[in-house]
Amino acid sequence: MLISINKIRFILLTIVFIGFNSYSQEIKPEDTEVWAPVPAIIEVKNIWQPPSDAIVLFDGSNLNEWQHNDSSDAKWFIEKNSMLVNPGTGNIFTKKEFKDVQLHIEWKTPTIITGDGQNRGNSGIFFQKRYELQILDSYKNSTYANGQAASIYKQYSPMVNASMAPGEWQTYDVIFIAPEFDKSGKIISKAEMTVFHNGVLVHNRSIIQGTTVYRGTPSYISHSERQPIMIQDHSNPIAFRNIWVRELN
Ligand code: MG
Repeated sequence: MLISINKIRFILLTIVFIGFNSYSQEIKPEDTEVWAPVPAIIEVKNIWQPPSDAIVLFDGSNLNEWQHNDSSDAKWFIEKNSMLVNPGTGNIFTKKEFKDVQLHIEWKTPTIITGDGQNRGNSGIFFQKRYELQILDSYKNSTYANGQAASIYKQYSPMVNASMAPGEWQTYDVIFIAPEFDKSGKIISKAEMTVFHNGVLVHNRSIIQGTTVYRGTPSYISHSERQPIMIQDHSNPIAFRNIWVRELN
């Protein structure tokens, strides 16, 4: 006896329906509920202040968390609760060392424009004092795209240019995952960066190709797993405020 295609279809659908019904009766909603461990409760007063589990690196009052490369006191200025590059004194480094972090930093390039291209409002955040997230006045200021504001310098251009005008406070919110090396110093896991510039996603897990270099191709040079964060003195008076990190490991 021949069975029509419609009958076969009906039988198959019935089997699927019965199967699904018995599956949904076996699996209870609570089977997929996670009740422990409970996420730690942290205090967030408002979005402008560091969360209670953050390490505050600059709150407007002093440079106690910072030093120069030779471990001398940071000689940058404090003005109106912000810290200002003191051109010629050199880069500053956190006294604490970090591996994977979430970083928040606010920065402002000078209202009075001097110079152009790479000479307008240049600084940079160097994670582990090696991997630069560029700071530049990129508001109506052309330069190479992988060297503009929010570029991972000479490695990746930002997805968009979310720059505000000079003299406006801007923000970076970054997730930095540190590289890992084996005992012989060979890279086994490259660093990565996710970056929001003024709240806009500009890098989504970009894989860092090595130490930031001005000339040539970046490569990795093995280093210990915790390193300071560095802010660049590029001779332009960039202001910074509200700097904090959360350790992710
Ligand atoms: Mg720079």
